[in-house]
This record gives sequence, C-alpha cells and structure tokens, in this order.
Amino acid sequence: MKNLWAPWRMTYIQEKSPLEKGCIFEAGTGKSFEKESLLLYRDALIVVLLNRFPYANGHLLIAPSRHVSDISDLHGEENTALFDIIRESVAIIRKHKTPDGFNIGLNLGTVAGAGHPDHLHFHVVPRWEGDHNFMTVLAEVRTVPEHIENTFDQLLPDFQELLEKQAG
Ligand SMILES: [Zn+2]
Repeated sequence: MKNLWAPWRMTYIQEKSPLEKGCIFEAGTGKSFEKESLLLYRDALIVVLLNRFPYANGHLLIAPSRHVSDISDLHGEENTALFDIIRESVAIIRKHKTPDGFNIGLNLGTVAGAGHPDHLHFHVVPRWEGDHNFMTVLAEVRTVPEHIENTFDQLLPDFQELLEKQAG
C-alpha cells in the first residue's frame, strides 16, 4: 500500500511526455471532452482526465478548471463541485470496473509528490483485492496504456451524461 503513489516514478515517467510542454489540465480547453488528451469531462468549474500513466485501470485526475496550485485558493463553488464530481466519478468507475475499493488523494507541492504541482488535482484510483504489491503496480504502469483508449470509450458516455445533467 505504501508504494501506491510512487510519486518519484510518476514524475520520472511524466517528464518524458510531450504533454509536459503545457499544463495537462489545459488540454482540450473549450471542449467538453477530447480523446487525444484523455479529457473525459470539462465544465466551467471542473476538469476530469484519465491518467495517461495510471496506477490502475480507470485512474482519474480531477482538477478545478482554474489553474490554481493550492487548496487554499479554491472558492466555495469549486470546493462543492470538486467533491460532487469525485462522488460521481466513484459511482461511474464502480459501474464499469467493479473495484473492491478506492484511494482518493491529493499531493500538494513537489515535495509531496505532485506530478503537476502548479495545478491542484485529486487522484481517484480504483483498487482490487490483491493489487497492492509493488510489482503489480509496476506492471500496471507498463500494460495499462495499451487499454487506456478502451477505458476512455467506456467511461466517456457517463461523464457526458453527467455534463448534460449539470447543464440542465
Ligand atoms: Zn493548469
């Protein structure tokens, strides 16, 4: 369990990504979704990405749309929207992936292991019985990207439905 966030590894991997040229949470700005960026959801307040370097299949990154780095910078509306989308995301992942549990967490600052310290984001990571040894986590990092577009296609309709519900 203590290796779940393996932030040193995550930073190492993400430094090699072309997405690092800009803030990943700005990808697909103005669009409600974009497969290329693994953007599942965007509204005025919230952005949801499928993590390109997941610890588990269905690992989400959930952020305020505003480029803010600290939890103290959030205003009340964003606070509420973040918790709502985390709750809805758990329900969506449960429906499609039937995990046994979740880790939901926040790394504030590089020293705490934030891969993108300039833009506050929560990790939502589905967990299954027996998935917690370090080798399994490493194996997931290598094998999950092959299936990530399938996961995106699987989750997208539910997030878009959520978006319509928010708008309506
Ligand atoms: Zn940003």
